[in-house]
Amino acid sequence: MLAAVEGIEDEAIAFTSALIRIPTVNPPGEHYADCARLIGETLASLDFGVEYHAAEGRPEHTRDHPRVNVIGTRRGRSDRPLLHLNGHFDVVPAGDGWTVDPFGGEVRDGRIWGRGACDMKAGIAAAVFAVEAIRRAGVPLNGSVEISGTVDEESGGFAGVAWLAQQKRISADRTDFAIIPEPLGVDRICIGHRGVYWFEVQTRGRIAHGSMPFHGVSAIDHLGLVLDRMRRELQPALAARQTSVPVIPPAARHATLNVNGIAGGQAVDGIQTPCVADRCRAVFDRRFLIEEGFDNTRAEIVNLLESIARDVTDFSYALRDLMVVHPTRTPDGSPVVAALEQALQRVLGRSALVASPGTYDQKHFARIAGVPHCVAYGPGILDLAHQPDEYCDIADLMNATRVIALAVLDLTRTVC
Ligand SMILES: [Zn+2]
Repeated sequence: MLAAVEGIEDEAIAFTSALIRIPTVNPPGEHYADCARLIGETLASLDFGVEYHAAEGRPEHTRDHPRVNVIGTRRGRSDRPLLHLNGHFDVVPAGDGWTVDPFGGEVRDGRIWGRGACDMKAGIAAAVFAVEAIRRAGVPLNGSVEISGTVDEESGGFAGVAWLAQQKRISADRTDFAIIPEPLGVDRICIGHRGVYWFEVQTRGRIAHGSMPFHGVSAIDHLGLVLDRMRRELQPALAARQTSVPVIPPAARHATLNVNGIAGGQAVDGIQTPCVADRCRAVFDRRFLIEEGFDNTRAEIVNLLESIARDVTDFSYALRDLMVVHPTRTPDGSPVVAALEQALQRVLGRSALVASPGTYDQKHFARIAGVPHCVAYGPGILDLAHQPDEYCDIADLMNATRVIALAVLDLTRTVC
C-alpha cells in the first residue's frame, strides 16, 4: 500500500496549492464556501460520499461570510470502527514580511509555500490522499473513514467542529477515533492542550479635575496595582507550576499569563481634558494546566483582587469571564496513539508524544462529541504556523500521508 503513496505525490501537492490559492482568511471568514466546494468535489471525484453542512443558527454564519463545512465518507465493509480525519481550512491573515505570494500556492525548493501551507492545508491533503492511496492499492476498508474540512478553528471552531458535534454529526454514537492533521511536526503525536481562561478586569475610580487628582480615585492607578501584584505574586507562582503533560516548547509546561490589552481614561489620540480616569480595564489570557483545573485558576484571580480590595481604600473592581477552554488530554493507552506510534516507527523510525501550548479543535471532539480517542498528527512545523513565508516540506507532506494511511488501516481494522 505504501508504494501507492509514491504515485499520488503530484496530486497531493497540486491539491495543497489549490487550497492555498483560496484565501480563506479568518477573520472575517472569506471564501469558505469555495474552499468547502473544492474539498467536496475532490472527495467526490475520489469516490467519497459528500455532505455540506452550513452552520445554520450560528451568528457568524452570514450571507456575506457563510460558514460551510464539508464531510466526505468512505464506507468500508462495516460502519465501525469509524475514523474521522478533520482539518480546518480557515487561515489567519497573511500579515507583513512575505517574500512569496501568500496566496500563490507556489511550489519551489521541495516546499509548498503560502498562508495555510502548514496550518493546515497540507494536513487536509495528507488526510485525503492517505485514504486515496489505500483505494489505489486495491485494499478494501473494513471499517469506515470520514474526512471533514471545517471552518473557524482559528477563532474557536464554534461554527465548525463544535457545531458539527452539537448537531451530533460528529458524535460518540458513530465516531470511534479522530486524527486532526495539525502541524505539530511530522514525527510527533499531539495528545492535547492546556486550558485557556480569558478574562477582563475593570477597575472603577471616581472622576475629578486633573489639576486636583486628590479629589478623585484613578482607575488607571488601581489597574496598575493589579498588574503589579500579578507580576510580583502571581507570575512567580505560575512559573513554579509544571504539568506532567509533554507540552512543547518546554517553557509552555508552566502556567502562563499574558495581558492582551488595556484601556482606561481618555482615548490617548483624542482631545484631552483634565480628568481623573474613572474606568480602566484590561483583558488577560491565562493558560492553565490540566493539574490546576479551571475552578482553582479562577479562584486564584478572585483571591488576588479581593486581597487588593482589602489593602487599598476605594479599590473597586469587576471581573468578567470572556472565554474558558478546558484542557484536554487523550487517554493513556488510546488505540489512536498506538496506531500512529507504530506507523511512525515504520515510516520514520521515530516518534514522540507532545501537547500543544495553544488550543485546537481536539477539545470539541472530546467535550462535545464525546470522542476522547482524538489526537493531532500532521505535516508541517509548528513554529511556522501564522508566520510570514509559511511553507510545508513536500517530504513532510508525503511522510504524513504514509503515516496516516497506515493508521487508517490499523484503526479501521483493515488487513492489507
Ligand atoms: Zn491549525
